[in-house]
Amino acid sequence: MISRSNKQLHIANLGVIDVALPVIQIGSGNPKALVINNMHGNELTGFYVLEKLMSILPDKILGSIDIITTANPLGLLHKQRTAPFDGADLNRGYPIPQKARGVSPAIQEKLAGLVMDHDLIIDLHTFMRPCLSAALALKQSSEANQTLLSQILQTLNTEIVINMDPGGEEKRVNSALGFYAIGQNIFFVAIEYPPIQCVNDEQIDAYSQGLKQALSVAGVLGGQNIIDQHNHLMCFERQQIISRQSGLFEPLKKLGEEIKAGEAFGRIIDIKTLSSDPICSPYSGKIIEISGRQFYMYGEKLATIGKSVL
Ligand SMILES: [Zn+2]
Repeated sequence: MISRSNKQLHIANLGVIDVALPVIQIGSGNPKALVINNMHGNELTGFYVLEKLMSILPDKILGSIDIITTANPLGLLHKQRTAPFDGADLNRGYPIPQKARGVSPAIQEKLAGLVMDHDLIIDLHTFMRPCLSAALALKQSSEANQTLLSQILQTLNTEIVINMDPGGEEKRVNSALGFYAIGQNIFFVAIEYPPIQCVNDEQIDAYSQGLKQALSVAGVLGGQNIIDQHNHLMCFERQQIISRQSGLFEPLKKLGEEIKAGEAFGRIIDIKTLSSDPICSPYSGKIIEISGRQFYMYGEKLATIGKSVL
């Protein structure tokens, strides 16, 4: 039987509670994989995918897998994205400045340290709006890792791949943990699952199989690679549409539909007058994320239009 153990990585004592990161350790060999889940406390789909993964991993593996079940335990309790107390986004600000104060920097330093102790990092996230499941492809630091990335993208069973170019459209996220990991020559891939309310049992099965296949391709499981090379990947850059009004959004287009620049994808209902305005897309492309009926404030994201890239 495979060796599995549960550990608590101590972060800080807060008087009445201890903050720790729970880790499931599987196997002890090389290569060493680190799966990070729930860095954003309100992102839950990864938990269900990992629970399923635990039941389908083989009894014997060659390498090791460390799973941080929640990297934001206090945010999870608060059902919020950021860390309580200081409102920090734990996926921003890497590398962490020396002598940074507070609980959040202590968690982030622990995460950055764990990254250095592993050969590959898989970081699980969940979008807040109905979306196509996506693997986030960051340009790796070596040709070997870039080759591994293109193999792993084939295995994850996500509907699309999003190309992350930190210089362009994704400048906002260039201090994320992934770019830090790659800067340290560690392989990194992130996955964005749809909200847990939007996924069914079959999708959870497919995502967990995807993780298993990715670990297999990376050599962590040992034995034969179980890659299905026939997947046709749709690759996009993100074009995000931010609301310039506040009001009640209603979608007029469906997830996965094509849209042309100037076409309306939804409308915003003014809360004072209950009159509505159409919201037009400044971009052409495929709708890869679109809000349902929900109240939005100025500055919040309504939809993402994927611009197809090769
Ligand atoms: Zn996230």
